[in-house]
Amino acid sequence: SEELIRRSEKLSLIGELAAGIAHEIRNPLTSLRGFMQMYLKEDRDGSKKLRNDVMISEIDRINEIVSELLVLAKPSNEVYELRDLVHLLTHVTRLFEGQANLYNVQIKQEFDANLPLIQCQSSINQVFINVFKNAIESMPKGGEVTLQAKQMGNHINIRIKDTGYGIPNDDIAKIGNPFFTTKETGTGLGLMVSMRIIQNHKGTMRIESEVGKGTMVEMILPINK
Ligand code: ADP
Ligand code: MG
Repeated sequence: SEELIRRSEKLSLIGELAAGIAHEIRNPLTSLRGFMQMYLKEDRDGSKKLRNDVMISEIDRINEIVSELLVLAKPSNEVYELRDLVHLLTHVTRLFEGQANLYNVQIKQEFDANLPLIQCQSSINQVFINVFKNAIESMPKGGEVTLQAKQMGNHINIRIKDTGYGIPNDDIAKIGNPFFTTKETGTGLGLMVSMRIIQNHKGTMRIESEVGKGTMVEMILPINK
């Protein structure tokens, strides 16, 4: 559909931006790191060593952050392994059990019996965490999250539904834009990263929502790579 095409254009723009920034940052870092190592060699009495080690480890840290940014830039080459979705989804609900209790949120699971294992990267966990977290955050006065998973031919259809405050129509199109958030302490990166990970898996993500009623996030993933 048009919406899907628009979304994938948006994602490839984000990817280009991330790749551009990553390379722009990496080039000066590489040169800085090199000069620092030279500087250290000239340090005969060892008085500069401590500060140098700190500087080099700080540069390595920036490099790590840039590598994370690159997740958004290209399909990652992380390994695909056969995984049990029911197990993954159940694990996510456990992570949020405390928060769910605190906010009076009931969790329901409706999984097809005998779901096949699916080929996916471990990053798929991050998607479920991000979507589930949004669901709980949309119900500060309590409600219900329903997790569903069913097989549809060569795909698995996963739905995470909440009975929360919902998303106004105007905002739905902005979801997945970097830094789009309506929360005081939100980052606005959760769904952008999730959409990218689902896209890497050749899957789709769709959101339906009604203000005051709730939100449903549907993810369709191929079973085989
Ligand atoms: P963040 O959670 O940090 O704000 P996300 O990318 O996860 O960033 O979500 C972006 C925005 O989408 C949220 O700020 C919120 O406005 C909206 N949103 C996402 N999921 C839901 C949901 N289940 N219910 C209501 N609004 C949601
Ligand atoms: Mg979020």
